[in-house]
Amino acid sequence: MWFDNLGYEGSDAASLTIHVPSSFYRDQVQQRYSPRIEHKLKELSGNPIAVEFIVKPSELPVDAPPPKKQQVAVRQEKIKPPHPQLRSDYIFENFVIGVNNSFAANAAYAIGRNPGTAYNPCLIYGGVGLGKTHLIQSIGNTVFLGGSGRIVYVTAETFTNEFIQSIKNKTNHQFKNKYRSVDVLLVDDIHFLQNKTETQEELFHTFNALYDANKQMVFTCDRPVAELKHLTDRLRSRFERGLNVDLQPPDFETRFAIMKRKVEEKNIPIPDEVIDLVCRNITTNVRDLEASLTKLIAYSDLVDKEISVEVAQQQLRDVFSNPRQSNITIEMIQRVVADYFALSAGDLKGKKRTKAIAFPRQVAMFIVRDLTEYSTTEVGLEFGGRDHTTVMHACQRVESRMKTDPTLEPTVNHLVRTIKENNAKA
Ligand code: ADP
Ligand code: MG
Repeated sequence: MWFDNLGYEGSDAASLTIHVPSSFYRDQVQQRYSPRIEHKLKELSGNPIAVEFIVKPSELPVDAPPPKKQQVAVRQEKIKPPHPQLRSDYIFENFVIGVNNSFAANAAYAIGRNPGTAYNPCLIYGGVGLGKTHLIQSIGNTVFLGGSGRIVYVTAETFTNEFIQSIKNKTNHQFKNKYRSVDVLLVDDIHFLQNKTETQEELFHTFNALYDANKQMVFTCDRPVAELKHLTDRLRSRFERGLNVDLQPPDFETRFAIMKRKVEEKNIPIPDEVIDLVCRNITTNVRDLEASLTKLIAYSDLVDKEISVEVAQQQLRDVFSNPRQSNITIEMIQRVVADYFALSAGDLKGKKRTKAIAFPRQVAMFIVRDLTEYSTTEVGLEFGGRDHTTVMHACQRVESRMKTDPTLEPTVNHLVRTIKENNAKA
């Protein structure tokens, strides 16, 4: 990321000058790499050579529209300590645009440029690992680097915890003030608010206050708001106001572009055939792509082997055939498990706690946790609004029972197979 934008400017016997696109870059590169560059220069030339930087703004005008497809969008121009709640690498510049995400990315970019005007509020939704947090934080970073205004980024979970804490500590007034006095409010993962009625109420009032004051709000959610079951109607209607944009899983071309970029960022020689192999086999989301890259790099580091197609095939065997790769849903699992035990999916979600229902329910929860990425909180919600501890307990029960009951493991395996087959057909 840093080196892409540097260039050779000139040199003499004692110094080397590199041009950088902004003073922000200069400071970053100087801090992070100057000693290493100088060390290398000395190694190569045998003499101490000082590295100097000169700021040469890039050709790209600051107000250029976001470059289309698979390119970067914003350049950082200011020297500023990073925003405390935002990751400084979650910027548009590092976000690869493809057909799957261009609507969301362009909307986010426009909001970052002109908060509080066109798309307010905005809600970005999509599955895990597709870039929601990256985009919402990129908005924050753009506004932040652009200058003024108070930007608050918070996950819905933190918002909830702070709210509960403020009631306990009788500091609710400060809490309200904090959130109602911001210029840009970014709330990540609002699906977490399900069933948290009082927090929803609080956010509802925060929303109204900010909305009336034309302050920008952006939310993210793991599914369309209409599909959140445990949300008050009035808060739902607030989220649905404004622009709702989705993130889809990246197609092959975009996956390839993303991987290629990450490989270049890490500056590790990985042949295109390997990138191709990984991108053909990992189709779910960017987080899974990143994880496989990390695994390959770690492997090649530890055993000091080059990353070849063979190495990738062998090292990523599990990931390539991993059921998490698929789009198995909780509903699908409930259906298969209910069928098997001659129950209805409604029974699994219902209140009854008779043994004939409770046990299949536990098995279903266990399989959900095994085959999907849903958190225990989310699983609980899909099983009739149960608490996450109930889910944890269910999984432990099934696991320990598998050790004592020799018929259980084959049953679970059979169910898992059926689910995977159903999913492959779907
Ligand atoms: P989500 O919040 O939707 O679960 P994240 O924003 O955390 O997903 O993204 C997961 C990882 O994938 C992050 O490291 C993010 O930087 C990266 N990522 C996602 N989409 C892209 C993209 N289009 N280009 C580059 N990196 C991406
Ligand atoms: Mg996220």
